[in-house]
Order: sequence, then C-alpha cells, then structure tokens
Amino acid sequence: MTKERDFGHICQKNTCHYCCVETEMLLTKKDVQRIVRSTLISPTEFAIRNEEGYLMLQNRHKANESQCFFLNEKGLCSIYQIRPEGCKFYPIIWNFEDHQAILDDYCPHCGEFALKLSSTSDNLENFIFRLFGKL
Ligand code: SF4
Ligand code: SF4
Repeated sequence: MTKERDFGHICQKNTCHYCCVETEMLLTKKDVQRIVRSTLISPTEFAIRNEEGYLMLQNRHKANESQCFFLNEKGLCSIYQIRPEGCKFYPIIWNFEDHQAILDDYCPHCGEFALKLSSTSDNLENFIFRLFGKL
C-alpha cells in the first residue's frame, strides 16, 4: 500500500468498477512480483505485453464484458490490498502534454477524487518516471 489516503470508498459508494473493464493498466515489475508472490498465479495468466512492449493487466470475458483478470463476480478487486500501483493512483493520471497530474474524466466519479489530486501529484510523477524513464 502507498502512504496516500485510500479513496476506494468512493468506488464502493458508487458501486463502480468502470475502470476495471477493458483495462489497459500498465504493470511494473514490482507489481508483477508482488502479485505472483501473494496469489501464486503465473504472470502469463494475468499480464500481457502491449504493442509498445509494456506489461499490462490482462482482461478476460466475464459477465458479457471484457474485465480485468482480477475483478471478481461481486465487481470488486480480488487483489485490492496488493493491486498495481497504477490502480492505486487512478483516476489520477499523468498528462504528458502539460506535464502534470490530472483527473481522468473517463472515471464517471472523478470529481470526487479532487482531494487526492494535490496529495498524489508528486508520487505519480515519480511513478511515471520509473515506468517510462521520462515525463
Ligand atoms: S472508474 Fe472511478 S469510481 Fe469507478 S472504480 Fe474506477 S476510479 Fe473508482
Ligand atoms: S487490479 Fe483490481 S483495481 Fe486494478 S484494474 Fe484489476 S480489478 Fe481493477
């Protein structure tokens, strides 16, 4: 877990798992190691490489939609405590054009995360640099 406040209650309150459908969430090597260590699931089951060669979460067909491998039948993340770092930041994302953290309006409840934006910005910047080697 990061030291940031956990805002998962906003998703729970809104019974939302929108961003866990057709997810394109990237994974760090540490994410993969942590998930394998904790679940004993092979990375070939939950991760794939995208066209740019980055590891990302794999979707599978459930409930008539393509959902993250780790979304359970109750619409909850089955690895919440050890979920990927990018999932912890979301819906805060990095805007590469303006070089700043922004709220992703793909999240239907992104406005409720406004408090998280300022407290998360520096940590997201570090994360993006670790992931891509650039900002
Ligand atoms: S789309 Fe937004 S509210 Fe819904 S689960 Fe994702 S972060 Fe939470
Ligand atoms: S790991 Fe959990 S929070 Fe992240 S996309 Fe999958 S189900 Fe959603």
